[in-house]
Amino acid sequence: MNVASEVFPGVFRIELPLPFELASVNVHLIRLDSGYMLVDCGMDTEASFTALEQGVASTGIEWSEIRQILLTHMHPDHMGLSVKLLKLTGARLLMHQVEARQLRIVNTPELRANWIGRAFQESGVPDQLQTTMHQHFLALRKNFHALTPDELLDGGEEIPTALGPLQVLWTPGHSPGHIALYSSAHRLLVSGDQILPKITPNISWQPESDTLADFLQSLEELKQVDVDLIVPSHGQPFSGHRAWIDKTTRHHGERCVEIRNLLDQPQTAHTLVESLWLKKLSPINHQFALLEVMAHLEFMRRLGQINSDARDGVFHWSV
Ligand SMILES: [Zn+2]
Ligand SMILES: [Zn+2]
Repeated sequence: MNVASEVFPGVFRIELPLPFELASVNVHLIRLDSGYMLVDCGMDTEASFTALEQGVASTGIEWSEIRQILLTHMHPDHMGLSVKLLKLTGARLLMHQVEARQLRIVNTPELRANWIGRAFQESGVPDQLQTTMHQHFLALRKNFHALTPDELLDGGEEIPTALGPLQVLWTPGHSPGHIALYSSAHRLLVSGDQILPKITPNISWQPESDTLADFLQSLEELKQVDVDLIVPSHGQPFSGHRAWIDKTTRHHGERCVEIRNLLDQPQTAHTLVESLWLKKLSPINHQFALLEVMAHLEFMRRLGQINSDARDGVFHWSV
């Protein structure tokens, strides 16, 4: 029996299983003046839905009391069950406008092919591996739904709740329209995937952007707010956001140095992944690794630390 825990008065955490190495995701029910807001939805699997049903039942809250669903971002473990839950509850859907656009791209086969296909091609990924990674994406595909949000957020809005207003913080980097929720009165941060205990969020390359710079910038902004309790999407609530931000910023700096040290000989993003990860990666982890290396390369390119030259459409990077 899956039971919700009240991590802060009026904030219930329900842990849902994931079929990945990362074993679970949290969704949160936040009390409103009338009804509840559900933050994120979990993966679209039977196990996840059953765990959610049990967790919601353990709070005594009815589906019909969930009046709003807010998605921190559109990753499969956060949005998978959204369509089902929107139907079940009749709730209004809120998400960041940039994330709604990102979802449309991922959901449109030609646009996605253009986006990720180009990334794989320019990175020098062998055809066979490109096919495996694509097949893996197709298996995850049912978690991506076309959604029509009732309210598109920009960041800066205040969502009224029973525990006072929650400010919407736009924290791009892990995903372009990622948002967190912040209560200054309670020094409480519902951090989504932006700040996680134990692991660093994956930072993936996106076309025409510098996602690592965006992430580091949004962390810098989070450092300005006072937080006593971080309520993350994976793992247990914890505290110490400034120390976490310093450590994570340092980690990315060290990663950049590690990559630059490999670039005395020209390398593709694909060969860098093979040098940086010694064990063989699963297709999904290979894709994460590749996009993460590409994000670091783009970050350093914009700082003028490294260059690339294209040979037959494949980028070769060097210092
Ligand atoms: Zn995520
Ligand atoms: Zn996540």
